[in-house]
This record gives sequence, structure tokens and C-alpha cells, in this order.
Amino acid sequence: MAQVQRMSRLMVKTLRDDPADAETLNHKLLVRAGYVRRTAAGIWTWLPLGKKVYENIARVVREEMDAIGGQEVLLPALLPKEPYEASGRYEEYGDLLFRLKDRKGAEYLLGPTHEEIFTQVVKDQCSSYKDLPVILYQIQTKYRDEARPRAGVLRGREFQMKDSYSFDTTDEGLAEAYALHRGAYQRIFERLGLDYRIVSAISGAMGGSASEEFLAPAPAGEDTFADCPACDYAANTEAVTFALAPVDGSAHGPAEELDTPDTPTIETLAEHLGVPASATLKNLLVKVDGEIVAVGVPGDREVDLGKLGEHLAPAEVELVTAEDFEGRDDLVRGYVGPQGLDKVRYIADPRVAPGTAWITGANKQDKHAKNVVCGRDFEVDDYLDVVVVEEGDPCPNCGTGLKLDRAIEIGHIFQLGRKYADTFQLDVLGKEGKPVRVTMGSYGIGVSRAVAALAEQTADDKGLCWPKEVAPADVHVVAAGKALQTELALDVAEQLGAAGARVLVDDRAGVSPGVKFTDAELIGVPQILVAGRRSAEGIVELKDRRTGEREEMTVEEAVSRLT
Ligand code: ATP
Ligand code: MG
Ligand code: MG
Ligand code: MG
Repeated sequence: MAQVQRMSRLMVKTLRDDPADAETLNHKLLVRAGYVRRTAAGIWTWLPLGKKVYENIARVVREEMDAIGGQEVLLPALLPKEPYEASGRYEEYGDLLFRLKDRKGAEYLLGPTHEEIFTQVVKDQCSSYKDLPVILYQIQTKYRDEARPRAGVLRGREFQMKDSYSFDTTDEGLAEAYALHRGAYQRIFERLGLDYRIVSAISGAMGGSASEEFLAPAPAGEDTFADCPACDYAANTEAVTFALAPVDGSAHGPAEELDTPDTPTIETLAEHLGVPASATLKNLLVKVDGEIVAVGVPGDREVDLGKLGEHLAPAEVELVTAEDFEGRDDLVRGYVGPQGLDKVRYIADPRVAPGTAWITGANKQDKHAKNVVCGRDFEVDDYLDVVVVEEGDPCPNCGTGLKLDRAIEIGHIFQLGRKYADTFQLDVLGKEGKPVRVTMGSYGIGVSRAVAALAEQTADDKGLCWPKEVAPADVHVVAAGKALQTELALDVAEQLGAAGARVLVDDRAGVSPGVKFTDAELIGVPQILVAGRRSAEGIVELKDRRTGEREEMTVEEAVSRLT
């Protein structure tokens, strides 16, 4: 028998007003409906109703991870710093890491993601190619000292993530594990009832090459993605650059040869070019410590010197000349993205024609990348407002004008390659008896964030409105009256429960029907069953939370309809 939860005994205090600090729909509604409560900035308590929704999402994630052969483990959140020092991320993460010391002064961190530790686990547990491939996952609490812990559980400083890691001996094996995850994620988000898009992504601090994000379109989202109305191209604007035609001087006329000052500032650079410091330039490459960070191509994208100046220590700017284009027919155009100059590099995107390239985030393993770290070398706020891709810019695949939309990043999959295996010398004995370096993938889903994303996408002006699979109950029975109505409501709730439905029954005494209806709509269970004025006849009213459609029926009918 499924659970019958009486509202009279449920710890839920609904609020009529939005919390003062709430800016987003999910934050307002999840607090008002008594699902979560703020403990500190970006740190949340899950109350009974919220915990149910959270667990429903976690269950779907588990089922689909198990279905692709994932093995569930649980790693600690409190971690020694050494593995993260070895990978370079102890420093790279900067202020995002929560760092702490034990009583002896040894240094620890609270895990923001677990590539290092999983690599060590597999090094310890697997020694032969016969032990691979393996997919390990956990649903676990992560810690990131986010600069902007807003929007409720959407961006927590403590939050729950499903993170999985694949280990293979071959590139094909990695590609297969990646495809398995991609499929599992599609099934997960479909089952959850989330509207989502799969888009190309940068790899951020993770490193690695192939990387896609699962984005849930919503105004509260902090990501922007470019979507082509004519083909299947979709990319996070963090990853978009334009790649229309190979650069060869001939197509556009030769790039201007320039004699560069030794350590030009934006001002001397502009002066040198005879343009204002705020000028937008074509025909220009800008390098930071030898690495190209921005490209202006004749007839194509332009480099905005003013914007560049905001993100650069001026002395780092080096103006380069036509020779720098030579041999770089992979290079078309690009510019400073919303990740600013954070780890710029080139990644060939398989869907972009040969001879074109993307400029996107990079990592330390990338030989030619300069390790510029956001937050350390420049501030997040400095570049958040930089507009990189504009509505109507041409699609790199087909040239059609791109559409831009806001979205919430709910999942992210990476082919990491051998970065962490190299760091920790993760080898297994191969078929030929020689050690083989292992290749890895890492895959995340924001489980707590998915609660917020679903609330954003499904709520209406009356309150939350959950899809069936994640709702805290299947039916919300309302006793709209006195003893008679309460008796009928409890009776029908028992019958529904016995038939396998998850039931919430509002049996609260001394609460008016009006308040109960308002609460039922705010709480957002998909079906509302009202024992009201026709209770004496055994007639109840079934109301669909989303459509508002109502229908009177007998208790028997209601039970058979709802189970
Ligand atoms: P974001 O761009 O929103 O900061 P991210 O790219 O830093 O996210 P990943 O490192 O890719 O996040 O982590 C995997 C998943 O964990 C994300 O796709 C997201 O769903 C979730 N996630 C990341 N940061 C948070 C957070 N602060 N609060 C809740 N969920 C988060
Ligand atoms: Mg982040
Ligand atoms: Mg992201
Ligand atoms: Mg991500």
C-alpha cells in the first residue's frame, strides 16, 4: 500500500507572500509551498515535500544509470587536498573551493566534483584490461563557493549532483560510454518531464574534448544557448564561435603587417593602429602569452578593443601580424566569450566543416593554452555581461540566423580523455601484457537543481504543478467542509492508498476550504480530489491541477480513475 500522508500531520507551512530575497519563480514557489528552507546563502534544508520530489528525481536517475551498467558508490565529500594539487585544480578552482584544516593543520577541501578521487579508486581496484570498462556513479553532496548563490536550489553552494565516471582502455570504448550516458540522460529528462536541449559546450575547468550540455530552457536560466531554426545546430554561447570560411589572406586581402610595441597596452595598441581605444577591429589577432585569444577577420567577426581591454592586464596584449594566420587554415574567427579569456584554445567540432574550428575553453593539459583563471586573473563580474553571440548571427552549419534563449544547465557530459589518468598514472595491463593508459569520461546531473528547473518550467500563476513522475503525491484529496467531508476524504484517501496511489489528504481542522484549495494549487500535486458539498451522496470532484478541468464522480469511479 502506498503512503497516505495527512496534511494535519505533515510539517508544511505555506506562505502567502514571496520571500523578500527571491527573484526567481522556483525560489519563490518552493519556499512558499514549504518544500525547502534557506539555512544560509546557497545552503538549503529539504523539508518533507521537497525531499519527496528530490528523491523521485534521484530514483529516476538511479534507474537509468543502473540500466547502462553504472555501479553506484559513495565517495566522501571531505577530501584531502593532495589529489587536487596533483591535477592542478586546487589552484585552478580558486575561490570556488571550500578549504579547511583539521586539528593537526592538514589541509582538506569539500569536493566540488570528484574526477581525482574516482581515478584513484579505479587505480586501486582495477589492474587489468579485463577489469574495464567500468562506469561508476554516485548521488552526492557537492560544495562550491559560488559567487552568486541566487535562485534558490538552482545554484547552491551545497548541492546534490549525480556524477559518473567511465574508464576505458580505448578511445572507442570512451565514445561508447559517452553515447550510453547521452542516451541515459535523454531518458532521464524525458521521464522527469523536463523540456531540454542538447547543446555543444565548452569543457570549463574539466578539460577534455567532446562535451555537451543538457539545457532546460527557462527565463531564470543563467546560460544562453544559440539555436538554429533550420538545422540541428545548438550550442551554449560559451562555446559558439563562428566558422564560416577558412581564413586565407587572398579571400579577404592581406592582413595588415604591423610593427608591435614590446608590451603594448590597449591604448598604445590603439594608437599604433590609429584608432580609438574603443574601436572594433577586423584584420587582427590578439595573443596573450603567445596564445591567440581573439581574432578579427576581414569581412567577418571584429575584435572590440574596448571589451578586450576590460579583460586583459594591458601588458599582456600582443598584437600579431599576418604570419600568424599562416598555416592556421583551421582558424576562422572567434572572440572573447562569456568565459572571458579563461583558457582559450581551439577545438575542432565534428559538425563544423573541415578547415574550420571553434575557439573555446581549454585546460592545463592543452599544450598551447595559457592558464588564465577566471576569478584569479580577472573577475567574473567583469565579463558576465559581454555579449558574444547576437540573435540573428549566422549558424556555423548552414548560415541561417541563430535564435538565442536562456536555459538552466541540468546536465553535462565530457569525454575527458587521459588528463586524470596521466596525472595519477592510471594504467591497466593490456591484452599484450603491456600497461595501457586508461581514458575517462565524466558526466554530471544537477539532481537538486533539477527540482528547481522543473519548478521553473512547470509552475503557473497558482503555484507549483509537477509532472506525475516527480510529484510528491499522485492525488491531493481535499476535505472541503466539516466532519462529513473529512470522513469521506479520509476514506477515499485510504482506498486510493490501498490501490497503490501516493496520497496527500488535507484533513486539517479549522482550515477553510478556500485556504485548502489555494494550498493544494500551490503545492502542485497533479490531481486534486475534493470531498465537498455532495459528500453525503458519495460524490467527489476531480480536478486536474494543470488544466483546471473538473468532473464530478462517485468515489468508486475516482478510485478506479486514479489508480
Ligand atoms: P554552472 O555553469 O551552472 O555553474 P557547471 O558547468 O559549473 O554549472 P558542472 O561542473 O558541469 O557545472 O556540474 C555538473 C552539473 O551539476 C551541472 O550541469 C549542474 O546541473 C549541476 N550544478 C553545478 N553547479 C551547481 C550549483 N551550484 N548548484 C546546483 N547544481 C549545480
Ligand atoms: Mg559552475
Ligand atoms: Mg556550466
Ligand atoms: Mg557544466
